[in-house]
Amino acid sequence: MCKFKFKLSFLIVSIVMVSILATSTISIWGSYQSFNEILIENKRDLKEVYRKEISNITNDYGQLEMQDSDNGIASHAAFEQAANRFLEENTVPFNALFKKIIFPLALTLLVLFLLTLWIAVKIIRPLKGLATGIEGGGEIQNLEEIDGWYLEAYHLKNAVLNTLTESRNRIADLTKQLRLDSLTGIPNRRSMDQVLNELFTNKVPHAIVLIDLDNFKNVNDTYGHTAGDEVLKAFAKIMQESVNQHGVCFRYGGEEFMIILPSTTIEEAVEVAENLRVKQALAENLFGHPVTLSAGITAFSTAIKTPKQLIAIADQALYEAKKSGRNCICVVEEFSGATIARRQP
Ligand code: GH3
Ligand code: MG
Ligand code: MG
Repeated sequence: MCKFKFKLSFLIVSIVMVSILATSTISIWGSYQSFNEILIENKRDLKEVYRKEISNITNDYGQLEMQDSDNGIASHAAFEQAANRFLEENTVPFNALFKKIIFPLALTLLVLFLLTLWIAVKIIRPLKGLATGIEGGGEIQNLEEIDGWYLEAYHLKNAVLNTLTESRNRIADLTKQLRLDSLTGIPNRRSMDQVLNELFTNKVPHAIVLIDLDNFKNVNDTYGHTAGDEVLKAFAKIMQESVNQHGVCFRYGGEEFMIILPSTTIEEAVEVAENLRVKQALAENLFGHPVTLSAGITAFSTAIKTPKQLIAIADQALYEAKKSGRNCICVVEEFSGATIARRQP
């Protein structure tokens, strides 16, 4: 950054110095030439005037010499007057000064000023472009179009582009990480809340399936936490394959998961959940016995005001499923209090 400042200022100072030197040299040399021309011209005129005056005076003096002394004094006074008048006249007329010196000098300065202005604008343009580009949201394509015609602007443009690209990638990465569960790789509870809020705001009909793996603590206690993690990952995979394009799967927390099924009836949701239950119950693992699931299902209705309320109803159904012996699904068919029906098996 320090180097950049030095180089740019060096360029500007160099331009100004060269401009001043060039202007001064041109002006001095031009003035010298013009004055010489004016003086030579003037000398020529002077010579002519003197020649005429002297011949006049010589003639007059020749005639007056023969007259009385009074006339001699008068002719001497006339000569003095003519000489004084001649000396009082400007040696260099202003017109000549303007034409030969002032005008060319002003013209040169104007051209120089315009040239300096043009260079200054050219230098400033990429910097201004970068500043407005960043302020206006940092569109990579707009910044790429900036002409970095001098070294510092070129480096600055590349640095800005690299930093912007890097930070965008980083933000995209972080946003992705923020939405996904680090263990299973499926969307997390934060994403679930967002989706549910959107569905509620837009009043989109949807069903939810709240899942809890059965006796999961035993898996951890018997085979270790790492083995438990593997079970969670394997289940997340089975769940996503099973739900497919019908809905979105989330890790709700711990060994609890959620499936959101937009524009789906309770019957259809039961079918999806039942398929998953059977798959999980039949899934092979290293323990020699299945890790089953229990689920509570409910669906959005106008009587349910918030996502939190909907989840609480599904949780109630899940609690019923656990109470009913696990490895089964319970449903809240209609929200009017607690109409809970037990399903398979
Ligand atoms: P229930 O059938 O009633 O749900 O019994 P459960 O044992 O599954 O339920 P409980 O709430 O008693 O235990 C849940 C266990 O899940 C306890 C906890 O250590 C474990 N668990 C939660 N999150 C993780 C995780 O990320 N990895 C592993 N390995 N275990 C987890
Ligand atoms: Mg639990
Ligand atoms: Mg459990």
